[in-house]
Amino acid sequence: RLASTDPLTGLLNRRAFLDLAIGRKGRHRLLLIDIDNFKLINDRFGHECGDEVLSAIAASIQQCRPPKSLAVRLGGEEFALLVPRGSFDDCTADMVLDAVRGQAMPMVGKATVSIGFADGTLADEEDWKRLYRLADSALYRAKSDGRDRACWTAGPPRAAGSARAGGDGHERQHAERARAARRQWRVRRRRAHTRGEARSDERRRLRRPRHAELRYDSGRRGG
Ligand code: GH3
Ligand code: MG
Ligand code: MG
Repeated sequence: RLASTDPLTGLLNRRAFLDLAIGRKGRHRLLLIDIDNFKLINDRFGHECGDEVLSAIAASIQQCRPPKSLAVRLGGEEFALLVPRGSFDDCTADMVLDAVRGQAMPMVGKATVSIGFADGTLADEEDWKRLYRLADSALYRAKSDGRDRACWTAGPPRAAGSARAGGDGHERQHAERARAARRQWRVRRRRAHTRGEARSDERRRLRRPRHAELRYDSGRRGG
């Protein structure tokens, strides 16, 4: 077990994650989670403080981990969640953003993350690389759009006959996803209430996702 976890954060390490992830059946969503301006945190407060922020953010990610998903420290200040499609995936990015925003960081006060996510299969190493590239390009977008947000990248448009390639298709997908995220948020809030978890921090974590926070980009449409 020790060999499979990252000692600082307790999340899976890269090697163990890849062993578990590659070969999984079905479609998955990969969320790449990168701390915003982490170099500044190190520079201002010192490397040790930076390490504490790393563990605190890992704990926030762990707290949002849907069932059957994997949480990993891929390296440095980059984390990932791999979530089977169709479970809680639509809500996860926003939950992570909110959990990090709501967490008091030692010394630093507040920190934020940017998230890039994409969907795909994980039959082999090639699939992993493709999925990683897509999520990474979404992460790049999230950073350049101003950080503290999640962006989504679609895969290349499907071949002939697919209805997914058009601009309207993407708009519609976006609206559907936003609706689904809000629906899942309501379900989660109800569950939290019946579990008696309606403390204020829990309420904050379960804050209703705002439409503006669901900034799915239109990906590599048209190359
Ligand atoms: P951005 O918002 O664009 O992601 O900016 P950034 O400053 O977070 O990104 P950048 O890649 O410039 O800096 C990442 C920093 O993370 C640099 C490196 O020193 C620091 N870092 C990587 N691993 C660790 C670690 O284990 N502990 C600490 N304290 N810092 C680390
Ligand atoms: Mg980085
Ligand atoms: Mg960073």
